[in-house]
Amino acid sequence: MNNIIQLLPDAIANQIAAGEVVQRPASALKELLENAVDAGATQIQVLVKDAGKQLIQVIDNGKGMSPTDARMSFERHATSKIRTSQDLFAIRTFGFRGEALASIAAVAQVELKTRQADSELATLIQIEGSELKKQEPISAPVGTSVAMKNLFFNVPARRNFLKSNPVEMRHIVDEFQRVALSYPEIGFTLYQQDLETYNLTPGKLSQRIVGLFGKSYQGQLVPCEEVTPHLNVTGYIGKPEHAKKTRGEQFFFVNNRYIRSSYLHHAVSSAFEGLIQADQHPFYVLFLEIDPAHIDINVHPTKTEIKFDDERTVYAVIRSAVKQALGAHHVMPALDFSV
Ligand code: ADP
Ligand code: MG
Repeated sequence: MNNIIQLLPDAIANQIAAGEVVQRPASALKELLENAVDAGATQIQVLVKDAGKQLIQVIDNGKGMSPTDARMSFERHATSKIRTSQDLFAIRTFGFRGEALASIAAVAQVELKTRQADSELATLIQIEGSELKKQEPISAPVGTSVAMKNLFFNVPARRNFLKSNPVEMRHIVDEFQRVALSYPEIGFTLYQQDLETYNLTPGKLSQRIVGLFGKSYQGQLVPCEEVTPHLNVTGYIGKPEHAKKTRGEQFFFVNNRYIRSSYLHHAVSSAFEGLIQADQHPFYVLFLEIDPAHIDINVHPTKTEIKFDDERTVYAVIRSAVKQALGAHHVMPALDFSV
């Protein structure tokens, strides 16, 4: 007999898991932003250097962590967000896998500073490639700052696969926009190489849209709202004359989580049929609120896909909400009475 199976050491297991969670700087930003939102932050600051290859830092004024939790937060499957398998069916937070910080720390140099309101001192933790380098008390404001430096410093093959700075920066801005859109009540700033590129003050969704996409959106947004027993739809669609040939300004959020769905996109574009050219795309930011029991967000680690138990109803409600919004604003062609 010859037994050859061994459990992988944590550092290797984390590095393998990291492949799923952290594909590029933007994926780390997404996780860090979501953690800041989950922590109840009202102000979130993002610092980016070298398109995230050198630095991604997220600073929040949320509830912070105790020294013990600060260390625990880097363990795999360590989370404060779910406790039982039942909780998986009623997730109200972004996080629940407890994998993000462990994964990021496996493939980067991470510096965490965190302080809870009732403690005088903050905790500093430095981890590189899953290896704890330093843990000590320091003084820092209430909240949490996570700096991720030199992503893939220990996985050169993956570092080489990162795209050019403009491409990586585009992904970073996309993630930033998605989170900023879904939380207009939170203030966000984004600095690139010390240059402020966004400064979004807390406000209404329409103000956030203008803050993110520019003044040309002012007066171009039509509110969209539909309440049904199964789901609620709220948000804005752009007026048909504002439709563009390029894609990229179409956003669905399900329970405040950004999702991608060509099926639901079709529900919106079909409502715009006849109002815009076939090669144009309407602007929309639509929020679907649905009982978490009717969705499964556990299908993919990066969680931009989602399963609905009744996709056709969701499609119909979205289409009708958009049609009504267009109709209410007298932008439907006079002879079109179709539903
Ligand atoms: P998850 O978010 O899935 O729980 P993470 O690895 O992202 O897993 O984070 C692990 C834990 O660390 C979280 O459950 C939370 O308790 C804590 N944590 C992470 N980021 C922050 C933060 N910015 N503020 C407060 N607590 C945080
Ligand atoms: Mg998380």
